[in-house]
Amino acid sequence: MGIVFGAIADDFTGATDLAGLLARSGYPVSLRIGLPREGEDSGEISPFEIIALKCRTNPVDAAVSETRQALAWLRGQGGERIYWKYCSTFDSTPNGNIGPVAEALMADLGTDQTIYCPAFPENGRSIFMGHLFVGEQPLDESPMKDHPLTPMRDSSLVRLLSPQVRGKVGLANRLVVARGVEALTARLADLRHQGVAHVVVDAVADEDLAVIAEATLHLPLITGGSALAMPLPRFLAAAGLLAAASGGFSLPRVTGGQIVLSGSCSAMTRKQVASYSQAAACFRLDPLRLASEGIAEASAWLKAQAPDAPKLIYATAEPEDVRRAQEVLGIQQAGEVVEQALAALARQAFDLGTRRFVVAGGETSGAVTSAFGVNRLSVGREIAPGVPWTFASIEGQPVALALKSGNFGGETFFGDAFRQLEGA
Ligand code: ADP
Repeated sequence: MGIVFGAIADDFTGATDLAGLLARSGYPVSLRIGLPREGEDSGEISPFEIIALKCRTNPVDAAVSETRQALAWLRGQGGERIYWKYCSTFDSTPNGNIGPVAEALMADLGTDQTIYCPAFPENGRSIFMGHLFVGEQPLDESPMKDHPLTPMRDSSLVRLLSPQVRGKVGLANRLVVARGVEALTARLADLRHQGVAHVVVDAVADEDLAVIAEATLHLPLITGGSALAMPLPRFLAAAGLLAAASGGFSLPRVTGGQIVLSGSCSAMTRKQVASYSQAAACFRLDPLRLASEGIAEASAWLKAQAPDAPKLIYATAEPEDVRRAQEVLGIQQAGEVVEQALAALARQAFDLGTRRFVVAGGETSGAVTSAFGVNRLSVGREIAPGVPWTFASIEGQPVALALKSGNFGGETFFGDAFRQLEGA
């Protein structure tokens, strides 16, 4: 079975977010971490294949080269409809990478028009008259204006995109989208006639996304945040493209010990750690002790726990504690000490029979999956918006992994995750 819909995401948690939304459809979704290696067995191909890259702030040439290789792999597996997924706050600079990557993918796909729709109404990202809003604030008045790597100092997507691309940029505004599929189709054709290659499309509600997904179903490439992909399975199925792939989840039922590993210090993770520590045995990692004494103490604690018992190992700390550790060790070193410790403890937990893992933190999740040598995840149901259970095979053993980025999930997320897996 070939790919019905192939996506390339510019970061890891963005890819899991997209994967979770697509998995809402019940069709199999597969997430590959990094470029699939040449000559490597691709395993079973899912109708929805997502390749997670880490190229949001890479030099333009590197980002273009990586995404083109990802595209070549997707096309090699039969993918004809391609999605370029970036952040719903259009994180980019005047150099890129959103526009240059889109333009390179368009050239490879031989298409002369694509759309840009980072709207995610459920999460407060909407586009009106080409301006992107975060909640009620224009993008350039939102906290994104101060982002350390991609400060967003304009809210007009047309103006933001123009210096990033060579082709003409235009707009299909909400008044058109609100009139429905035919009106949007006609507007896109009209813009194409005027030589407009890059069309920003307004959307303020999920209904708009459905209109856009249907009107652009024939395009080889569409681009946006994760939400635009949400209505797509419905239209692909209606077009008969998913019929052969139906059958829903055939994911492994994973039993075996459980653990939560948290390396995120985000506000929501701090609440989740506080809540779960009421119910679970806990071990707190101190970066300074880790730097001087390693993980022996944590390992001994882990070995003494019953595999099935709820347990939590965390480095999660308040901002002043994080600062203190960073002052002594340096920001980079403090982060790495914690990430490497959690990754090594995850491996030990696996060796002790743990098969169900909840990991908090985007970077932390990357460290844990790479310690496991996992480069492919099958995507299951969402636990919370943007965080699905995923499944992998480690040394031939089925393992369940919930990889949560900082601010995702509610306060009871950790317990909810295991309850959902048991009920699945
Ligand atoms: P998030 O998704 O919340 O941003 P990440 O895992 O991506 O979480 O990033 C958190 C970073 O903070 C990681 O590099 C982690 O190792 C580091 N970290 C975790 N706990 C501490 C701590 N107590 N002191 C210093 N750095 C820490």
